[in-house]
Amino acid sequence: MDLGAITKYSALHAKPNGLILQYGTAGFRTKAEHLDHVMFRMGLLAVLRSKQTKSTIGVMVTASHNPEEDNGVKLVDPLGEMLAPSWEEHATCLANAEEQDMQRVLIDISEKEAVNLQQDAFVVIGRDTRPSSEKLSQSVIDGVTVLGGQFHDYGLLTTPQLHYMVYCRNTGGRYGKATIEGYYQKLSKAFVELTKQASCSGDEYRSLKVDCANGIGALKLREMEHYFSQGLSVQLFNDGSKGKLNHLCGADFVKSHQKPPQGMEIKSNERCCSFDGDADRIVYYYHDADGHFHLIDGDKIATLISSFLKELLVEIGESLNIGVVQTAYANGSSTRYLEEVMKAAGDAISDMLVIEAILALKGLTVQQWDALYTDLPNRQLKVQVADRRVISTTNAERQAVTPPGLQEAINDLVKKYKLSRAFVRPSGTEDVVRVYAEADSQESADHLAHEVSLAVFQLAGGIGERPQPGF
Ligand code: MG
Repeated sequence: MDLGAITKYSALHAKPNGLILQYGTAGFRTKAEHLDHVMFRMGLLAVLRSKQTKSTIGVMVTASHNPEEDNGVKLVDPLGEMLAPSWEEHATCLANAEEQDMQRVLIDISEKEAVNLQQDAFVVIGRDTRPSSEKLSQSVIDGVTVLGGQFHDYGLLTTPQLHYMVYCRNTGGRYGKATIEGYYQKLSKAFVELTKQASCSGDEYRSLKVDCANGIGALKLREMEHYFSQGLSVQLFNDGSKGKLNHLCGADFVKSHQKPPQGMEIKSNERCCSFDGDADRIVYYYHDADGHFHLIDGDKIATLISSFLKELLVEIGESLNIGVVQTAYANGSSTRYLEEVMKAAGDAISDMLVIEAILALKGLTVQQWDALYTDLPNRQLKVQVADRRVISTTNAERQAVTPPGLQEAINDLVKKYKLSRAFVRPSGTEDVVRVYAEADSQESADHLAHEVSLAVFQLAGGIGERPQPGF
């Protein structure tokens, strides 16, 4: 490690005084203007992680569904998964170290993780379409180079495409070619093969409106379109030609406002979907004949895919139970599972193609798909706390281990309602505890959510006003 060079280059990517950031499940995210030093340092960290795992590591510059002024960075581990938790801590330490402590922190990490500094390192880098992303990814490259790492800059990529590249490179090409062409061909070939078997190939099954959140998804879907066009025609909206990234569009906007994105006209029963800003998330929706909006997200997507796979297994006489996602994490928590746990793994483009193939094969319209599965009424609330770290959970975040007494209180409250369930979990980025409750009626779900919020407020150091009933 050339500590002199690190110090010299680090000064060119100086940390603003007093700025403290935390690496969470989404990596680092904040205003782009505060991220230069973080990018440089994540370049350094990626090299150490690459040396330790003797594998290619990915660095993605994106802030997903955040506004265009923000940016962020996350590292991708060797098999395309999220960074290991112990390295998340190293990332936080390194990002927050003052200039004079940088050398020590780097040496500490290397020693703790038994990094062989003589080992070669290789890092691949991708970025979304934000105006700040190109310069910030150059800072990542500066970090990689100063520690002697080799790199390949893929430039503009969706987050899942970078995960794909990392996985391909670390499996010696067995999974696929680590090129953008390789990604398009692999996914499209599977899609076209599958849909060839569909008996219903009327127009209804073959066209889809896609809201690309004015992000990278538009660019990549345009490039990819002709590879799968014999099975599906896509009409792109919010393709970045005029609007701002994630502004009045994208999966998060559609989900939280329960309405179509700006700029998209929907006829009744027409199938539409929205990506988020880095295309690792997708939601579907439609307007029924009365003009009512219907959202189809994580739960129903999981149900469609898992029941399809299950049928295929039954067909070939395989009894393996694959309904895990659907049963163990049913309802709101399956959404949560898909959105949070599988965040490393979600891919809007690939999900879209799987869904379109299944709908075509099964001859399902969007309303028929929507009707396959009905959610129990549920309510989600947030409670402000002084320090979210007082809450720790187990069992896929469905049970609180600390603070003492909280899980017991939740258990007692749940017993009061029919078909009920509730759990709490700390936010990944702010001092907030999220409360989820479901029950046989909306009224019961609302009551239960409120009572659980009160228990959190009392037992987990709530601040501000006590949670009030009524929504
Ligand atoms: Mg995203």
